[in-house]
Amino acid sequence: MTTKSHLAPVWTKSTNLQISHGKGSWVYTTDDQEYLDFSAGIAVTSTGHAHPHVVEAVQRQVARIMHAQVNCYTHDLLEPLAERLNDLTPEHIDTFFYSNSGAEITEAAVKLAKHATGRPNVIVFSGSFHGRTHMAMAMTTSKTVYRGGYSSLPASVYVAPFPDPMADDQDAEVTRALFGFKHLLKTMTAPDETACAIMEPVLGEGGYIPAPSRFIEGVAAICKEHGILFVADEVQTGFGRTGTMFAVEQHELSPDIICMAKGIASGFPFSALGASAELMSRWVPGSHGGTYGGNAVGCAAALATIDVLTEPGFLGNVVARGEQLRSGLRDMQADDPRLVQVRGLGLMNAIQLDSAERVSAVLKHCLDESHLIMLSTGTYGVTIRLMPSLVVTADEADIALTAIGSALKATR
Ligand code: PLP
Repeated sequence: MTTKSHLAPVWTKSTNLQISHGKGSWVYTTDDQEYLDFSAGIAVTSTGHAHPHVVEAVQRQVARIMHAQVNCYTHDLLEPLAERLNDLTPEHIDTFFYSNSGAEITEAAVKLAKHATGRPNVIVFSGSFHGRTHMAMAMTTSKTVYRGGYSSLPASVYVAPFPDPMADDQDAEVTRALFGFKHLLKTMTAPDETACAIMEPVLGEGGYIPAPSRFIEGVAAICKEHGILFVADEVQTGFGRTGTMFAVEQHELSPDIICMAKGIASGFPFSALGASAELMSRWVPGSHGGTYGGNAVGCAAALATIDVLTEPGFLGNVVARGEQLRSGLRDMQADDPRLVQVRGLGLMNAIQLDSAERVSAVLKHCLDESHLIMLSTGTYGVTIRLMPSLVVTADEADIALTAIGSALKATR
């Protein structure tokens, strides 16, 4: 038997686990070890691994039709899914486009914004992550590794500041960042050349940093004043991850365009773009599309996922487990001065440590000693993120806290 791998080394690995199957918050290795999965496939498995309702819907759909291509015909789940999304998304968003991944949907958002406004430029925020295709890379500023060696990237992307969560005076920091946004419109991309500003309501790959309300609302208001479309990239924050169906619900604003992926279909590759019918009518027919968008099995997975996420009490568990985790982590912070910040929203939580070395040591300790899978995040590698599936139980949250507590003690 050969030991040579035929897989591209471009995929970095955070663990070497060989997974055979998963159930709820747990994954099982080919040598019968169980691990508590606080990565959730990078914030994807919203209903947990192998949720029976989602599995049943996918299996049923695979046997009916797998690929009913949207340009060739209309299959019977396209409209029902759009109706469900219409109910769940902010009020004026009522029309939807489907694709397969987060990068494709942020690209689609920019294409729609350009057609709808006739303007060429895009504003992103420092620490952003919007994907790995060329335009999405150009819009990504969380780490140079995502862009390095890929020049030239599309021009016409401008970067505004995002408030630093470590600033002592948070109010002054928000004022500074809002000024930075206005300054950009005066110095680099005039409003009548700016199609959209795209923001993650909680910076994901940038370090799990919730946007302060005054900042996200301020940016949305300035956009409105100038006819710049405000795009909420809810690829990671959407579908209950932050305790509401979408994170923007926790602020006073209504995005013009909303990007959805990851948790939407419990792990089946699927993404969606939402906007008003009026905005969508300005997107020239035939100017965008894709072979697989609106895939029938993906629609079935998304519909079943939404059934689960909208069950009574489901989001209440997200809020309660998030509070439980943050409270446990804050207790640990009280006697660990090198744990510099605990932050998060719903089940999108993080601890910031004082060095990348300690982050690696804590992750390794959790994995090896306690079978807890977690990932790091952020520009400087000093942040560990906790993003279990949204069905995580109080007992499972306690298991994770105990594991993190012993890893922090062991790495002091
Ligand atoms: N947007 C955000 C906010 C993300 O977190 C990600 C992925 O992490 C993407 C876009 C890109 O999604 P995908 O990896 O599915 O292309």
